[in-house]
Amino acid sequence: MRKMLVAGNWKMNKTVPESLELIHALMGKLNDSCPVEVVLIPPFTALYPAAEALRGSRIQLGAQNISHLSKGAVTGEISGTLLISVGCRYVLVGHSERRNLFQEDDAMINQKLKTALSEGLYPILCVGESWEEREAGKTENIIGHQLKAGLDGLTQMEMRKMTLAYEPVWAIGSGKNAQPEQVQEIHEAIRNNLSSQYEPAVAKDIRIVYGGSVTPENCSNLMAQPDVDGALVGGASLDADSFYAIINAIK
Ligand code: PEP
Repeated sequence: MRKMLVAGNWKMNKTVPESLELIHALMGKLNDSCPVEVVLIPPFTALYPAAEALRGSRIQLGAQNISHLSKGAVTGEISGTLLISVGCRYVLVGHSERRNLFQEDDAMINQKLKTALSEGLYPILCVGESWEEREAGKTENIIGHQLKAGLDGLTQMEMRKMTLAYEPVWAIGSGKNAQPEQVQEIHEAIRNNLSSQYEPAVAKDIRIVYGGSVTPENCSNLMAQPDVDGALVGGASLDADSFYAIINAIK
């Protein structure tokens, strides 16, 4: 049985005081019986204070990015070891903003995944098509390629530490979420794709979350799909009430 996961990607938002305010507001709402795994993904600058504030709670911490290299003279980069040292368990890899704004290609993403896994992190690999690719009927091909190249060389054991996030690029930050049936179709296709390359249990057990304009209003129908195992939330995770409403809508 796959445990649902809801992760809040704060992107380049929230100073340290703002981060702590959001965390305390959220902690005041969530109780220990919450059946959902909750992950907060603040900017790097707030990771350590966030970890301190979350000490003793079941909320997990994730990072928005990781260096493809594990140490050394790499000015401006953050390694997996550094992320672990401030309490991170998860790390986002392959977010479309990284792919598009920073030219991260599948080879770089593959290297980041390998580095993250070797350093003890649990990566969340984002995949998804642009609107033009969807219109051209290329969605499954594009995602198939992102999976093949991104996951290249990962062992079955490493695959068991992975979470996948289906994030159609056109749905991110646009207020236009993919329809629940569209999401289910792609999540099922991803599972089928993985089952042809890995042990059946890997495809069956891997968590595939959906991201792209998830809100308290649309999340119940999205999360009710059989192959949807949670949500990666951007904008709606910046407010404790709306993020909590998303978590709470998952049964
Ligand atoms: C994201 O950045 O991963 C995301 C899904 O953003 P939003 O929820 O704002 O569309």
